[in-house]
Amino acid sequence: MQRTDMMNNSRSHELFERAQLTIPGGVNSPVRAFKSVGGTPLFMTHAKGAYMYDADGNRYIDYINSWGPMIMGHAWDAVVSAIQERAAFSTSFGAPTELEIEMAELITSMAPNIDMVRMVSSGTEACMSALRLARGYTGRNKFIKFEGCYHGHADAFLVKAGSGLATFNIQTVPGVTAGASMDTLTAPYNDLLAVKQLTHDNKGEIAAIIIEPVAGNMGCIVPQPGFLEGLRALCDEEGILLIFDEVMTGFRLAAGGAQERLGINADLVTYGKVIGGGMPVGAFGGRQDIMERIAPLGNVYQAGTLSGNPIAMIAGYTMLKTLRNNPGIYEALDNTTKAIHIGMEDALKASGRPFVINRFGSMISVHFSEKPVNNFADAAAADNATFNKFFHLMLNKGIYLPPSAFETWFVSHAISAADVEATLLAARESLAVL
Ligand SMILES: *Cc1c(COP(=O)(O)O)cnc(C)c1O
Repeated sequence: MQRTDMMNNSRSHELFERAQLTIPGGVNSPVRAFKSVGGTPLFMTHAKGAYMYDADGNRYIDYINSWGPMIMGHAWDAVVSAIQERAAFSTSFGAPTELEIEMAELITSMAPNIDMVRMVSSGTEACMSALRLARGYTGRNKFIKFEGCYHGHADAFLVKAGSGLATFNIQTVPGVTAGASMDTLTAPYNDLLAVKQLTHDNKGEIAAIIIEPVAGNMGCIVPQPGFLEGLRALCDEEGILLIFDEVMTGFRLAAGGAQERLGINADLVTYGKVIGGGMPVGAFGGRQDIMERIAPLGNVYQAGTLSGNPIAMIAGYTMLKTLRNNPGIYEALDNTTKAIHIGMEDALKASGRPFVINRFGSMISVHFSEKPVNNFADAAAADNATFNKFFHLMLNKGIYLPPSAFETWFVSHAISAADVEATLLAARESLAVL
């Protein structure tokens, strides 16, 4: 590639040098670093709709969308003005507000099987609290998670976790004690037999099975027919709680999330990302008899100084209302993602490279793989060095993909047909020089 074709990223380089002096790795969350793909993370100044602008003034079509939350695109007017209005009424009370009731009523009206919901400030907190609740409710300690699924960075979940841990190849995390992870059992995604074996070997000891109903932290991995249904039946037989981690899929795959889209009921569900409309929000909810075990009704303790924060609530509430009142948004998201799928398939076929595209709703990912990608081992066996090169070629053409093959791409409602065309043109050009 000619040097003259390269974007100018000099301001981002400067900022990255400076950031590394006072922030570990220069970033406040490891997935933002370009460590695995190489190069310098780009520092952003503003974004609107489908476009994000970096510190050097370059424009990108955004396929991360803050890792999910910005499903309507950036700086969605309704959310921005709701935040501005509400801020003047104080940004936090530490006492209940009517808005929290409205948020809970909206969530329970949209998502199936949620009688009650508790708000927290991140997806990590939601998953950590749901697991504690499942253990408290069942009186059992062990739980099953799936290789390559990410449920936030609480100690018990950092075993064979996907996302940044897969990206940076971190197998064991110093600081997580053997005690904290001793009750974490793992199985390959889409492997019902392995789960049955675990429940057989640990009979009466398993509190919960937690799963991303459509996985997005090892690229996009789709549940095979019968897999989730099998987990549901197994949980019923064994008195195990089924926890759907819908931090990514919630309000993204449908107004009622993966539960609605796949027609499978979970006992507890965790939310994050879209639920906050770009503000730090998480939530966990489920059946009343389970949720009533949380303090102050029950003795499973869980709390948060900024939980239900009014600015966070009004942003999330406005976002969810938009999604509930405009069901056509989901069809449009699906169609946009399908167009990307078809175009990428053509481009990849023409390039002669082996590839697998997985897609579900507005989640999609490309693996440079010869065989189907249905679990973490498949994703890890793909040619991820080629993905990393592809990522940089695309970035240089103004297409901002996740900087790792172990992440799904997130499509937003702001991406137009012209943006898709521009993305596919960039893909064809990138593949030609790969
Ligand atoms: C992002 C994510 C989390 C963690 O949420 P944070 O808000 O980053 O703490 C948990 N589970 C899944 C499925 C996620 O994608």
